[in-house]
This record gives sequence, C-alpha cells and structure tokens, in this order.
Amino acid sequence: MADAKIIDGKALAQDLRAQVARSVAELKQRHGLTPGIAVVLVGEDPASRIYVRNKAKQAVAAGMASFVHKLGADTTQADLLALIDRLNADKQVHGILVQLPLPDQIAADAVIQAIDPAKDVDGFHAINTGKLIIGLPALAPCTPVGCVMLAKHALGELSGAHAVVVGRSNIVGKPLAQLLLRENCTLTICHSRTRDLAAVTALGDILIAAAGQPEMVKGGWIKPGACVIDVGINRVEDAAGNTKLVGDVDFAQALKVAGSITPVPGGVGPMTIACLLRNTLRAARAIAGLEQEQ
Ligand code: NDP
Repeated sequence: MADAKIIDGKALAQDLRAQVARSVAELKQRHGLTPGIAVVLVGEDPASRIYVRNKAKQAVAAGMASFVHKLGADTTQADLLALIDRLNADKQVHGILVQLPLPDQIAADAVIQAIDPAKDVDGFHAINTGKLIIGLPALAPCTPVGCVMLAKHALGELSGAHAVVVGRSNIVGKPLAQLLLRENCTLTICHSRTRDLAAVTALGDILIAAAGQPEMVKGGWIKPGACVIDVGINRVEDAAGNTKLVGDVDFAQALKVAGSITPVPGGVGPMTIACLLRNTLRAARAIAGLEQEQ
C-alpha cells in the first residue's frame, strides 16, 4: 500500500490567513472597521510566550490591530479580572484571548467566564459552548474548527463517516465532537477509561488524537485508509538528548496504514492560529452588526 497523503496544515493555514486578510482589508475600506485582538499573557512560561508572540504577529500580518498585555507571574485573579473588564468595554478590541495555562493563584474558569461571549475568540465561554451544542451560530474553539477543516480538505465530505476522537477535554475533544456531529459524522469519543482503545480507534474512518500522549496511537490502531488528524503537541527528548516535538500518533507507523495524515509540527498547530484570526474577524463583524461572509 502507498504511504498516506500528508495533509499540509501549513499551506492550508496560509490560504485561510490570506482569505482573512482580504476580508479585513475590505472591512476597513467599506466600513472603516479594523478588527482588534487583545492577547493576555500571565507569567513567563516559555511555550506560552512563543504562542502569544506568534498570535500577535499573525494578527498584524492579517491587517488587524493587536494589543498584547504581559502580566507578572504573581498577578492576582482580581487584577486579571479588572483587565478583562477593561477589554470587554474597549471598542477597539473585538477578540480577547487569555493564554492558558494560568498560574495557580488564578482560576482559569473564572477568567474565561468573565470574557464578553461576543469577544470570546477562543470559544471557551459557557454561552458559546451552549450555542455550539444546540446548533446556534457561535464562536467555536479554534483547534477543533481547524481539525474539521483539515479532515474536509482530505476527504471532501464527512457526512456518514465514523469519526473516533481520543480525548474529551473542554477545549479540544468535546467541542470537536459537536462539530463532527454538525458534519453528520457517526461519532465515538474515547478517554482514559476506554476499554480496548486500539480496537475502538481502528473503527474510525476519521481518527482524531487529542490525548497529550506522545506517539500513543500505533499503526495497528488505525483503520487502513483512514484520515488521521494528530492534535497532540508533546516535547520529548530524542536519542541524542535534543528536545523534539511529536504528536499523539506514531507518525512513521501511521504513514504505512492511513490514507491521509497531519504531521506534527505543521498540521493542526498552524490551523489553530489561522482559525483564531478567522474568529476575530467574525467577532468584529458580529459586534458591528454585519452578516458573516460564510
Ligand atoms: P487534556 O489533558 O485536557 O485532555 C486529554 C484527554 O485525553 C482527556 O480526555 C484524557 O482522558 C484523554 N487521555 C489521556 N491519556 C489517555 C490515554 N492513555 N488513553 C485514552 N485517552 C487518554 O489535553 P488537551 O485536550 O488540552 O490537549 C490534548 C493534546 O492536544 C495535548 O498534546 C496538547 O498539547 C494538544 N493541543 C494542541 C493544540 C494545537 O493547536 N495543535 C491546541 C490544544 C491542545 P480523561 O478525560 O479520562 O482524563
């Protein structure tokens, strides 16, 4: 059997960013409106600093305004909530993103629920989660939206396909399940208590791994010809002691069995940021009372 087709998340994300940039330019020209995103970083986590820098840089590249707020690791929850209040009221800000994880003294949930749902471009607020479940227009979480776009790019139509999701977190697994149901997939969600995980994953025409377990999904866990979307980002040491990124799927093995597969890095990651820009554009249009383009 031929090797799986590698789904180029970088190229797809570049197309999406270009599409967003065109819409932003048109929004500025026709309505005098510049979408703005506020990105809040608390503490010094090195990975978070890189994510925040990339998000801000790509927002500016798409023609948006970006407002980065860097707060010390000892910031109190009250201080952070006061900043969220100011951003909720700021007319130049259409999207608010608080980079997770937050330091221990701050309850992430209290912060997420304090964000105006209309500006919740991460799509984590209970109002957006609820709207997603009952099928109302909502700001949906970026990584799951990116996963569905990647699967559609590889397969075209998802309707009727059996999708197996490994992971049930609030930010990836659960919203992803809702989006796949919207696409009329038959759905199975697995988690740490699932019995005989390998047998369940092998049923999936689409297999999406979001467990945070390095290279857990082996070749034998995959249905031959399946579309495999690897959400995992795991830092591991190679034989020489260098740090490298791997997904939740054993890529070398999966390549021999799957029909198509996303690489790590270069798969889901770039799509997540592109979808964040798309959400910010959508939030700006909705706040201004304009119809969505798609
Ligand atoms: P969480 O740790 O919040 O959730 C992990 C989920 O996987 C849980 O539901 C857990 O089950 C399940 N799980 C863990 N171990 C196993 C196992 N051995 N077998 C079966 N299920 C298991 O992680 P996130 O959802 O936040 O993230 C998942 C991965 O995706 C991480 O690697 C993260 O870095 C990556 N990620 C990547 C993004 C991107 O942009 N590419 C964005 C967000 C996350 P249970 O509920 O029973 O504990």
